[in-house]
Amino acid sequence: MEISNRYHSLNAAIYPWFEDQWQRVLRLHNDNHLPHALLLSGMPGIGKACLAEAIAGYVMCHQPLADSACGTCRSCVLLNSSGHPDLYFLRPEELGKPIKVDQVRQLTEFMHNTAQQGGYRVVVLEPAEGMNISAANALLKTLEEPGRDTLLILITHQLGQVMPTVRSRCQRLDCHTPLESVAVQWLVKELSVEPHEAEQLLKVVHGAPLAGLEFKKRGHQTLRADFLTALRDILRQRKTPLEVAGQFLKADFDLLLGWLQGLLADITRILLMGNDDLIRNKDMQKLLKGVAKNSTKDKIFTLADLVQSERFSLQRRLNPNKQLLLERILIDWSALVRA
Ligand SMILES: [Zn+2]
Repeated sequence: MEISNRYHSLNAAIYPWFEDQWQRVLRLHNDNHLPHALLLSGMPGIGKACLAEAIAGYVMCHQPLADSACGTCRSCVLLNSSGHPDLYFLRPEELGKPIKVDQVRQLTEFMHNTAQQGGYRVVVLEPAEGMNISAANALLKTLEEPGRDTLLILITHQLGQVMPTVRSRCQRLDCHTPLESVAVQWLVKELSVEPHEAEQLLKVVHGAPLAGLEFKKRGHQTLRADFLTALRDILRQRKTPLEVAGQFLKADFDLLLGWLQGLLADITRILLMGNDDLIRNKDMQKLLKGVAKNSTKDKIFTLADLVQSERFSLQRRLNPNKQLLLERILIDWSALVRA
């Protein structure tokens, strides 16, 4: 593994919504009850990796304060600059690919060496569900007997997909999605936006504040607005599905399909519960109600299934032709309100 992948300075902020989890880890550590392995579980985009790094920084610090690392000892200085030789990050070599057994074997070698700075050694592995079966099996021995003063921090976005043999060897630290009020307050401060804008943003990213931050910073809002306008244009027959598919050929399809799934979920809510308060995409409320009124449950469910399965195959890179995929979905979208 490239050294640059292993070492980087830490972002060890404790987000306000993780204060309980943080205090729990501090208590365990101060009582000498810290387990060998922690499993941080929660939805993506809420800051689990930062929490993991903060925990790493704290247990590796040579003179920790009551509730934070000192920031000045040799360990803290290393962590905040070039990186610490006793902190090991294990992630897929490519985004979306599995963690391979060879990578776990390299980790095992690291575990056999003594800590260079004479304190804790910490491994951060993300995502735990990204290990293929042989990689997970190779990790089991290490999880059982990692050696003294060693902490493995596994991070998962999908607890159900982590192998039970791995799960049972870790102590779980559940990281809940923050309360909306807490997340809104945080986003307002981070992005200097009005509360209503933060609220809207948060709905689009299913309540995950860091995903909201990323979304705004990467200009996803513009892309989303353009895509939603195009979807509206298709229904009004101002644009054809083919034209729109061409327009978005270079966009991130996973994002587009995710937004479309969100719209279809809203239409389903209107159809099944008839309650507008449950709509997440408030900025599309009028259009969503129009579709719900003029379409059928069958059509909506069939399209929702199609979008979900195509999104899944895209994530696994099984779908070779993106243009055709989007055309097919948009043709079905256009047919939602036609007899
Ligand atoms: Zn320190």
